[in-house]
Amino acid sequence: MIIKPDGVKKRIIGEILKRVEGAGLTVKSMRMLQLDRKTAGRFYAVHKERPFYQSLIEFMISGPVVVVALEGVNAITRYRNLIGATDPDKAEEGTIRRQFGESIEVNTVHGSDSAENGILETSFFFSTAELGMIPEE
Ligand code: ATP
Ligand code: MG
Repeated sequence: MIIKPDGVKKRIIGEILKRVEGAGLTVKSMRMLQLDRKTAGRFYAVHKERPFYQSLIEFMISGPVVVVALEGVNAITRYRNLIGATDPDKAEEGTIRRQFGESIEVNTVHGSDSAENGILETSFFFSTAELGMIPEE
């Protein structure tokens, strides 16, 4: 998951992590960082042809983000239920995006959409050592 720049600016990092942990998901590693244009572009490369791509990149580099590697049974589904639909207006009551998101773009959090992408996105930001995956000697 990523707490997007608006989530950091709103000072709800703790609030978001409290909900994530409360849903039974485990934080394996986390870090705050400032994305540069190139890295944000690579991260969202799947959306390159979408009309909102440039604007999304500008938003994602507008301030620091918190990247978080999560673990849990059915983690993708459980996390996505917690955050709600992409568009905060369409997200269910009580979800993170419904409560804190401002628009379909400025929607407070990112989440991987499949186990496969979860692995890709987690390894995009974290080393195996950070994830506690260094094998025993
Ligand atoms: P995320 O991948 O961030 O968890 P998502 O999977 O719900 O969100 P995607 O379709 O993957 O949504 O879009 C990625 C991000 O691009 C969205 O979270 C949002 O910030 C932005 N975005 C998506 N659709 C639009 C749109 N129509 N207009 C502007 N920005 C959009
Ligand atoms: Mg997505």
